[in-house]
Amino acid sequence: MRDVELYQQLLGFVAPWTVSRVELSVQGERVDIWAELAPQVRLPCPECETVLPVYDHAEERAWRHLDSCLFKTYLHARVPRIKCPTHGTRQVKKQPWTEARSRFTLLFERLAIDVLKEATVRGATRILRIRWDEAWHLMQRAVERGLRAKDKRVPERLGVDEKAISKWAHYITLVCDLDAATIEHVAEARRMESLDGYFLGFSTAQFEGIRAIAMDMWLPYISSTLRQVPGARNKIVFDPYHIMSYMNQAVDEVRKREHREHRARGDETLARSRYLWLYAQEHLQHKHQERFAVLRAMNLKTGRAWAIKESLREFWKMPTPEEAPAHWKQWYRWATHSRLKPVIKTKKGIQQKLHNVLTYFTHRITNAVAEVINSKIQTIKKATYGFRSFENFKTAIFFHCGGLRLYLVTHTKPG
Ligand SMILES: [Zn+2]
Repeated sequence: MRDVELYQQLLGFVAPWTVSRVELSVQGERVDIWAELAPQVRLPCPECETVLPVYDHAEERAWRHLDSCLFKTYLHARVPRIKCPTHGTRQVKKQPWTEARSRFTLLFERLAIDVLKEATVRGATRILRIRWDEAWHLMQRAVERGLRAKDKRVPERLGVDEKAISKWAHYITLVCDLDAATIEHVAEARRMESLDGYFLGFSTAQFEGIRAIAMDMWLPYISSTLRQVPGARNKIVFDPYHIMSYMNQAVDEVRKREHREHRARGDETLARSRYLWLYAQEHLQHKHQERFAVLRAMNLKTGRAWAIKESLREFWKMPTPEEAPAHWKQWYRWATHSRLKPVIKTKKGIQQKLHNVLTYFTHRITNAVAEVINSKIQTIKKATYGFRSFENFKTAIFFHCGGLRLYLVTHTKPG
């Protein structure tokens, strides 16, 4: 088999394109392949699709292709132009081996996407022998492609969450589809506008499709949702995990104050006990249980705060929307009479927003999925170490968590 035929087969080239020449440079560790269009071929105008004879060719370009036995391989061709009576001289848009604006062949991009999925960006540049900016450009285009191909449907159950990004000492806002476990929207900051940007992409009719939205009790998110989503009052669900974290902070506050009081008289009872009180009782490690039992029997303020916290955990287990308010009232009374300032403050905060705490019992959603994605993003943050802009970071989030179809659709049979 001649070299041109070999590459013709490997590239999966079909008429009217053929491989006309192959050059191997052992010293340069590269293979160069030239593709040529058969004479008298007719191609469509990129504007009106009228099929016309090829008029001339643009300057030669090169596309990086899959390596040939570790030799970098480039495909060269001159893009044909047609002369349309209506649209003038135009380059034919689609070449069968690549996508517009790409410096790579389809097959190379496919491989690059696979590598970038598995490796860090830095690692991928080494494996693929491409530059840092080329890797980002590849990811960007894959994400753009995926977003274009995505259904413009509103998820039924959404989660809104924030993430602190120490790099810029500020926050980003994330919206995720709780059922598909995918990121739907990424925006800077955690302001009302950060979330507005997501909702503005939808029509009034589409909003009907949203059944519930889980979020933290964060005013800008609440305001945005109430303003943009019809019927939001009964769709917003304050995430139980976030509420429990406020309650845990209250317990910790009580412990700190009590520990300070104890310390002042030389009592170290509460020293290094922080996590004992914060764990859910059933998750406490066996080796700590004995000490914890002793502490609990001591009639401490912290012990009281802890018991109130554990009872709030029980609240979420109420089986029906009808039973929940009664448990809440009981809990509320207990918290009110606790004489523990941080507990009372937290109780008040929840009571003010009770309507959308109780919606949990109708919709049964939490932001647990969002939290899982959140920790995945933490990994991405490390893997993209040195991402230089918010846009890059956003690209990486969609690339890894968007649930997008990142590959190009091949117009030719794969080589
Ligand atoms: Zn035309």
